[in-house]
Amino acid sequence: MQLTYRFKNDEQNLDIKKQEYLNPTEVTFYIKKDDKVYVNDGDKVYINQLLKESSNGIKTYATISGVAIVKSGAINITNDNADSTITSDNTNDDISKLKKEEIISICQEIGIDYENKLIAEKLANKNKVLIVNAMDIEPYQFNNNYILEEKMDKILEITEVLSNAFNLTAYLLLNKYDENNIEAARKIIAKYPNIIFKTIDEEFPFTTNPCLARKYFKEYKYEDLLFFDAFALDKIYVALKDGLPTSERYVTICLNGTDKITVVKCRYGTSLAKILDQAINVDLTGRDIFLNNYMRRVKCDNIEALIVNDNVKTIFILDHEDIKVSKCIRCGKCVDICPVNINPLDKKLDPSCIRCGLCNNVCPANINLLNKEK
Ligand code: SF4
Ligand code: SF4
Repeated sequence: MQLTYRFKNDEQNLDIKKQEYLNPTEVTFYIKKDDKVYVNDGDKVYINQLLKESSNGIKTYATISGVAIVKSGAINITNDNADSTITSDNTNDDISKLKKEEIISICQEIGIDYENKLIAEKLANKNKVLIVNAMDIEPYQFNNNYILEEKMDKILEITEVLSNAFNLTAYLLLNKYDENNIEAARKIIAKYPNIIFKTIDEEFPFTTNPCLARKYFKEYKYEDLLFFDAFALDKIYVALKDGLPTSERYVTICLNGTDKITVVKCRYGTSLAKILDQAINVDLTGRDIFLNNYMRRVKCDNIEALIVNDNVKTIFILDHEDIKVSKCIRCGKCVDICPVNINPLDKKLDPSCIRCGLCNNVCPANINLLNKEK
């Protein structure tokens, strides 16, 4: 896919490849202290079989079939390549008939997690507006972009269902650079009369939910707004329609900045080291890996331990650089650039920080202003 992309006044034509890595040799799910584990060492497990549940109701399901190895700290499944799958009795051919309470109950039952917040919990709030933020928020991230390309009709269908069942005004927001999806949405939006379609002429970080709320929905309180992205809506769609969890996720891999960008469709629990080695075929020697937004400087020193989960969206692979951190020269650049007008120099990070990382990016002294523990 080719698209024009703008970030920090730099307009580029990007060629984004798409790849599938859906048949890993194994998947791993880490067990936390209070998790309830539902499989035993040596059990044969099936795709969609419940493996564990955390204390906040988030459930983890098998994403491949095979033999489970349960050790302290992790459940490992070795792929038997049989794709043996559990199906559900709770399918719904017509999801438009589902009532609000039924939708919440299905989402609770499946325990779908999204960025550490339960979708069911978000739905149960008293919202007034449903905003489908179908833009990829972080710089050089194209996961939503691809989900929309594959599933535009389903995303709009579930948006309409939620809008009707919860009596919400619904908006679909797309970035104006995303020409393919704008065109695809325009073709079918008339089928969904309750969805207001808006294109946004903004670039990161003004596509983040708090900034969108401030600029485009200022007549509402932030707690009245229910934001979902395309991926969360796809999860809800699969839960309502098929009565099942989602076993696949998209991860964008950026090699050397924008030299090679690939969106990989993969299974939850897959080792990121294996994806980089086998799908992207990259030698990591002499390179640094950053998670989700390189400006936040979350460096992965142990890629071997990292697995695909809801917190993994983008991997940046950059040549190693020895970054020298010096003393603050009080230039004020970090304060000037902050999009939410807080002071990044404060001793404690203000709760309204959106963790965009722009302050880090402009700092001539290379100070990590998001790392307040140090
Ligand atoms: S303090 Fe830094 S990371 Fe937080 S919003 Fe401001 S510029 Fe972004
Ligand atoms: S940008 Fe860096 S050097 Fe300048 S005031 Fe902020 S922390 Fe200090």
